[in-house]
Amino acid sequence: MRNVVIIGSGCAGNTAAIYAARANLSPLVVSGHEAGGQLSLTTLVENFPGFPEGIHGPELVENMKKQAQNFGAEYLHGAVLDTDLSTRPFRLNIEGEWIETRTVIIASGASARWLGLESEQKLIGHGVSSCATCDGFFYRNKKIIVIGGGDSAMEEANFLTRFGDEVTVVHRREEFRASKIMLDRARHNPKIKFLLNTVVEDVFDPAQHLVTGVRLRDLRNGRIWEQDVDGFFVAIGHIPNTKIFKGQIETDSEGYILSKGGARTNIPGVFHAGDVQDRVYRQAITASGAGCMAAIEVERYLEAEGH
Ligand code: NAP
Repeated sequence: MRNVVIIGSGCAGNTAAIYAARANLSPLVVSGHEAGGQLSLTTLVENFPGFPEGIHGPELVENMKKQAQNFGAEYLHGAVLDTDLSTRPFRLNIEGEWIETRTVIIASGASARWLGLESEQKLIGHGVSSCATCDGFFYRNKKIIVIGGGDSAMEEANFLTRFGDEVTVVHRREEFRASKIMLDRARHNPKIKFLLNTVVEDVFDPAQHLVTGVRLRDLRNGRIWEQDVDGFFVAIGHIPNTKIFKGQIETDSEGYILSKGGARTNIPGVFHAGDVQDRVYRQAITASGAGCMAAIEVERYLEAEGH
């Protein structure tokens, strides 16, 4: 019987593990399919406090893991495949094996939605990004493309004009999902251009390990052309990783966990941390903060139960 199982090993899960381990709860962390979370997909992180020169995302998340392990946290490769949160102790199926636990911290994150092109996947962290706040700084005086037609795409495009010379929003339709105010802001920004009814067919150049351009197609007339570009930002939404909790944990219509205050979910003893609940801030530091909150709540919850 475990005191606490932490599902996910990004900033939220690792920070929860540090706190839970220091509280002598011997947490078990299930790393998940995308071990290290979204930080493991980035390069230099310059806005995580405490690193004046910046730190590489994978190194930062690995350091957090080591820190948790130093206090006794145990890590398990693999993913939680199924859950039974209907009775206590809770039961989790980890790669085919059921284990029991008194509490759970869900820190399974949200995965960026990608276009799915092979070249795009190869260039993640080398010019392809899903986070303007994280990577925009590297594109000073460069040409940037942003994919999407929602608020995220407008927000990222506006933000990226602080750095880039030229920001082109590529959207597959004529109509936008973005709110009027966000769209208007982007439309009035002289550095932003729009390419509508247009899709990306390929991103160049995986062989050089950096983005040099894209091949685009106009859906109205089939015209295909190539364009030089240095930064490729995909802002077509995120997918919260909550499938395995469906029907048990309350979520909103898109699958983000509905918080019941603090780190609490609708099930007492099951807590949330990080992007699996947060659709607004989505930063490494806010996810870490949420992991800390969840671990403190677990500690108090177990204490109240006399464990
Ligand atoms: P979203 O509103 O779902 O928009 C996603 C956009 O990506 C859509 O325009 C969609 O095109 C496009 N898209 C999806 N799959 C695609 C694909 N395979 N190829 C090309 N384009 C694709 O997502 P979001 O912009 O991330 O926003 C999510 C939520 O957060 C929204 O409720 C939004 O209002 C909110 N948000 C708010 C703010 C803010 O207020 N500051 C900032 C960011 C996000 P189609 O339209 O053709 O489907």
